[in-house]
Amino acid sequence: MKTLDVSVVTPDGPVLEDQFDMVSCKAENGELGVLPGHIPMVAPLSISSVRLKQDDDSVKLAVNGGFLEVRPDKVTILAQSAENPAEIDVQRAEEAKKRAEQRLESQQENVDFQRAQLALKRAINRLDIAQ
Ligand code: ATP
Repeated sequence: MKTLDVSVVTPDGPVLEDQFDMVSCKAENGELGVLPGHIPMVAPLSISSVRLKQDDDSVKLAVNGGFLEVRPDKVTILAQSAENPAEIDVQRAEEAKKRAEQRLESQQENVDFQRAQLALKRAINRLDIAQ
């Protein structure tokens, strides 16, 4: 059976490089499933999970932004950050969530709400994937 050569890269370096049967992710305009032979494309990714299927197993990653690039039999995910469930520090994510919620609830003028909303999304995504 044909597989996809997948690599996941962040500014901190390569996270993963392996062969998979399918890549499922959430692009900014919807869910996306990539199988071998998929047409070449580039799509921006949302703060979400990427699932990499390999036989009866699958690997899940919490990704934060970035792009998915599909070339013939090669898929590259370039993300700002990408962690598997074991790498996620749950306490850190809970603290980040609390901080973001407090900022969003505060009426202070100096709070960057968009930034706080993104931080909240990252924390919730990590907590979902760590569970
Ligand atoms: P924090 O406020 O806790 O730093 P953040 O959402 O602002 O959270 P990011 O900017 O998304 O953090 O990530 C910065 C770096 O820290 C990345 O390398 C990311 O993989 C790592 N990181 C962030 N939060 C966690 C976590 N809860 N567990 C493991 N690694 C994390």
